[in-house]
Amino acid sequence: MRIHFIGTGDAFCSGGSNQTCFYVTAEEYRFLIDCGATSLKALSEHQISTNEIDGIIISHFHGDHYGGLPYILLEAHFIKARTTPLTIIGPPEVAERVTALSDIAYPGVDISKFSYRLEFKEFSEGALTMGPLEVQSFPVIHAAEANPYGVRVQYKEKVLAFSGDSGWTENLYHIERDADLFICECNYFDTEMPYHLSYKKIKEVLPNFSCKEVILNHLGPEMLKNRSRCELPTAHDGLIINI
Ligand SMILES: [Zn+2]
Repeated sequence: MRIHFIGTGDAFCSGGSNQTCFYVTAEEYRFLIDCGATSLKALSEHQISTNEIDGIIISHFHGDHYGGLPYILLEAHFIKARTTPLTIIGPPEVAERVTALSDIAYPGVDISKFSYRLEFKEFSEGALTMGPLEVQSFPVIHAAEANPYGVRVQYKEKVLAFSGDSGWTENLYHIERDADLFICECNYFDTEMPYHLSYKKIKEVLPNFSCKEVILNHLGPEMLKNRSRCELPTAHDGLIINI
């Protein structure tokens, strides 16, 4: 898999980074993990057409993780006249939440009547397939109203893991276990918060991780200020990692 970090920032684009969005290619299959509000512009800057995207995985219903969907869905219909189906996988209520968000952004536009078929699948159905991928999800600790999850995406023998947004929970061990790459949110440097992780906490639990590689994303102002003191790799917009 080839992971192109399109957006690695927090909700507030701290440091000028785009909101969360990873463009992943698994040979012929191409998908996004999360789609923050800045995603369409960021994809365009990297010359990635929405027509190239076969599926989208959403970790939770906060605007910096799914707020970009209305623009991408509308652009695919009105500008690209897309005809191939698009799969969206996410937490329970994914179809309802994405439809409602699109309706608020563009009242009267009915995404179910677009030029292409939208197919929704919920994490609650258990292990899911999306094209050639297997997607496993685990609940994490974040604002409960946003239905927060972390995910493991398997393609052949490779596993990409993503924490979503989360405070510390033992489920993060299930998410990162033996993964080839674990993208872990790290909003703070040493501040302890229930809904986000800190570098200090990640360093504390790191000896228990079995993933082959960890990279930190979703860096807030405190983390950015202390980046030079950080011994773990941090993501930045435009970074590409192959696993
Ligand atoms: Zn976030």
